Amino acid sequence: MSMNRRDFVKATGAVAAVGALGAPTIALGQGKKVVVVGGGTGGATAAKYIKMADDSIDVTIIEPNKDYYTCYMSNEVISGVRQLDDIKHGYDGLKARGIKVVHEAATAIDPEAKVVKTASGEFPYDRCIVSPGISILYDKIEGYSKDAAQKMPHAWKAGEQTKLLRSQLEAMDDGGLVIIAAPQNPFRCPPGPYERASQIALYLKEAKPKSKVMILDSKQKFSKQGLFTQGWERLYGFGTDNSMIEWQPGPDAGVNRVDPETMTVYTNFDEYKAAVVNVIPPQAAGQIALDAGLADDSGWCPVDMKTFESTQHAGIHVIGDAAIATAMPKSGYSANSQGKVAAAAVVALLNGEEPGVPSYVNTCYSIIGKDYGISVAAVYRLSEDGTTIAGVEGAGGLTPSDAPDFALAREVEYAYSWYDNIVHDIFA
Ligand SMILES: Cc1cc2nc3c(=O)[nH]c(=O)nc-3n(C[C@H](O)[C@H](O)[C@H](O)COP(=O)(O)OP(=O)(O)OC[C@H]3O[C@@H](n4cnc5c(N)ncnc54)[C@H](O)[C@@H]3O)c2cc1C
Repeated sequence: MSMNRRDFVKATGAVAAVGALGAPTIALGQGKKVVVVGGGTGGATAAKYIKMADDSIDVTIIEPNKDYYTCYMSNEVISGVRQLDDIKHGYDGLKARGIKVVHEAATAIDPEAKVVKTASGEFPYDRCIVSPGISILYDKIEGYSKDAAQKMPHAWKAGEQTKLLRSQLEAMDDGGLVIIAAPQNPFRCPPGPYERASQIALYLKEAKPKSKVMILDSKQKFSKQGLFTQGWERLYGFGTDNSMIEWQPGPDAGVNRVDPETMTVYTNFDEYKAAVVNVIPPQAAGQIALDAGLADDSGWCPVDMKTFESTQHAGIHVIGDAAIATAMPKSGYSANSQGKVAAAAVVALLNGEEPGVPSYVNTCYSIIGKDYGISVAAVYRLSEDGTTIAGVEGAGGLTPSDAPDFALAREVEYAYSWYDNIVHDIFA
């Protein structure tokens, strides 16, 4: 399964300066150990691409769950377009590549001793990659908690929470109000709450047409806003008295207190009682990253943009949602791209080489309704001084606002094909 450097660069599409990588170095990482904490989008990608680049490196993923449910396309599970099993992925493909998968949570990372600890043992590493995703800051909303999330699901980590939100929508009477409490920036998947509102409206339009969804949002603007609202106008009557989607923006519209017993949410001046409440709280880097001292005061992890090596602890690379990657949004595609960049850097460093200068990529599709998709795409480069990841002008862009119907329908097909490709790229 090993590849030479040229194949690796071709496969990752992530490293621009091929020359900087030098000649293929096969098996020089012999006996070297990489431990990956978190077998989600970023971690599984990094593990796979390290193994593909240098089969001699011993790669172990520490991941508590036997199955990974992608958050991407989970909004379609909430609307009933997909089933939960359609977004479930296992680790057999990675195991077949010789990657060890330990189904336990990492309880600590010791950057001095270079070990990752779990309840049952210790895993020494030469380089560690940490991709634990997000932690949900329950206590930032008064009355919200892990228990409260059983009544007012966040569904911001896919799986049981996704199923719960779906079943609440199914159980709701026609005419019920659905509230989405959207978080402040930065958070996982900037267009996610608005795609979710669209998918819920899609379901309600078919099954419960007297119902509506209201987004309470302390932000004044959001990702792909013009395209979303245009789609909502066309599909759900947005802006009219009969709109199925209402968006309340601004600092006074943010939810700061909830009462799960009475299904009431509170903003600075108003209170709303709803049939279904989806609270998406503020977030920070995954708990293990916070515990390991990888985050700064912002709650996210500063990294060297070229290698994703932590600026807090040498030898540990942080990727995905947990990392501060400047212009790159916290998305699955970003995590996948960063996984490849970190893999290339780790392989180079373990082989005593200078890592190449990377480029990075992201595309986010949002499915607003049947045959109605939109997207934003960007290519990024490392800035000259290496301190930021900046968008490349002229590369990427948005769905045009005058896109014809067939193009909007095609965006949905592209979104589905993107999904099939990325999960194959990560897990197969
Ligand atoms: C509703 C929704 C829709 C989205 N849609 C899109 C989309 O269309 N396109 C897109 O690109 N992105 C989308 N995203 C964002 C995407 O899901 C995330 O950005 C991506 O999953 C981040 O990858 P990650 O590796 O950082 O975290 P994750 O994929 O969450 O992986 C983290 C892993 O770490 C594990 N872990 C946590 N703690 C520990 C520990 N202590 N020890 C071991 N393992 C641990 C977890 O179990 C998990 O498997 C969406 C997100 C949401 C919520």
